[in-house]
Amino acid sequence: MTTITHRLPQKRHLVTDLPGPRSAELTERRRSSVPTAVGSAAPVYAVDADGGIIVDVDGNSLIDLASGIAVTGVGASNPAVAEAVATQAHHFTHTCFMVSPYEGYVAVAEKLNEITPGDHDKRTALFNSGAEAVENAIKIARLATGRSAVVAFDHAYHGRTNLTMALTAKSIPYKHNFGPFAPEVYRMPMSYPFRDDTGVDGVAAAERAIGMIDKQITADSLAAVIVEPIQGEGGFIVPAPGFLPTLAAWCRENGVVFIADEVQSGFCRTGDWFACEHEGVIPDLITMAKGIAGGMPLSAVTGRTELMEAVHPGGLGGTYGGNPVACAAALAAIEQMSSLDLNARARQIGEIALAALSSAAESLADQGHGVIGEVRGRGAMVAVELVKPGTTEPDPELAKAAAAHAFSRGVVVLTCGTYGNILRLLPPLVIDDDLLREALDIVIEAQTPA
Ligand SMILES: *Cc1c(COP(=O)(O)O)cnc(C)c1O
Repeated sequence: MTTITHRLPQKRHLVTDLPGPRSAELTERRRSSVPTAVGSAAPVYAVDADGGIIVDVDGNSLIDLASGIAVTGVGASNPAVAEAVATQAHHFTHTCFMVSPYEGYVAVAEKLNEITPGDHDKRTALFNSGAEAVENAIKIARLATGRSAVVAFDHAYHGRTNLTMALTAKSIPYKHNFGPFAPEVYRMPMSYPFRDDTGVDGVAAAERAIGMIDKQITADSLAAVIVEPIQGEGGFIVPAPGFLPTLAAWCRENGVVFIADEVQSGFCRTGDWFACEHEGVIPDLITMAKGIAGGMPLSAVTGRTELMEAVHPGGLGGTYGGNPVACAAALAAIEQMSSLDLNARARQIGEIALAALSSAAESLADQGHGVIGEVRGRGAMVAVELVKPGTTEPDPELAKAAAAHAFSRGVVVLTCGTYGNILRLLPPLVIDDDLLREALDIVIEAQTPA
């Protein structure tokens, strides 16, 4: 693996309490200009970021375990991405692919057709956000099948637009009083090994969902099943082995479009290009965004040619979809993922993080403080599920307090989960080992009683 040289010193360094005075000033300005509906998990205002470090307006250097929600896997100022963005911006920032097309869009489509699972013939359409990719995947599946029902799962997160709110499971904060929601969305139970009854393995969990589909919908009314191969916002839930392959096989037999929403789990995050590769699952459509373009807004739907070509000319698009600057960034970012072998790096990060967190879970339990219910994840998508000691009862207060403690020590770490009781680690894949270990120590310390 190539060693990565960083522009900024890879050192946590705090010169003020967090947030510092200049961040506090900006928070004041923001109070009278931005609605509180738009929140910030780590309210220091960034001025620079590189590798595993975010520098704020007060001169503090924090360790980044969030990557802007799984976006900056290649780093927040990856030199190859920065160069590609600057070069493209000097030529043209926009023409609209639906007006005067350009090569970058075609090259991204070719690349995604190549790296997504399956060697069947594919087509790719580009959009701006994850939610927009999901909306378009559902549009394509409905048109191609002539059916309208869509199945999503418990704990799912697919976005904040009307249809994707309907697909998303959790009410507060994503859906509460924002309805009415898009119709013909049905929710099925997920495979959640930590919370499923013993005996409910992956195949059984898939059969449980399929049985409910047969009762409530029937396959011949069902356009698509959409699932995150590892759920993101819902709690970094890794379904039991067999769940995804069983579902995908049932979809194939019944003419139902199987959509893998890899918006959070894609682009080397789990140690493969896409998380569904782990069990050899080949989706009919795959939605991508977040890690795709080194921080530039871009999303994509890649799918079987016969599905993608079912849509009439002009049926897909958008003013900014596949913006040329974002496409240049994506090509550079994907090239960096290959040349830096970030799949291998994600697996190393996973080994380090799972080992450190699992041994912390044991020693906390030995001290009679068994608050870590489960450590799970794959590659650089790792989570700690916090519970009331010795039970499976979620402890969201502890997760919140632990994230706040880590933040006060200069580590940016996010929570997630239907019950809000999960700490999730999404470090940039270009973080150094030393910095990662230091951040893990602080995350562990944050779960230990004072
Ligand atoms: C973040 C996310 C989305 C929505 O992406 P946006 O770019 O925020 O619209 C959709 N699906 C999954 C799995 C996500 O993690």
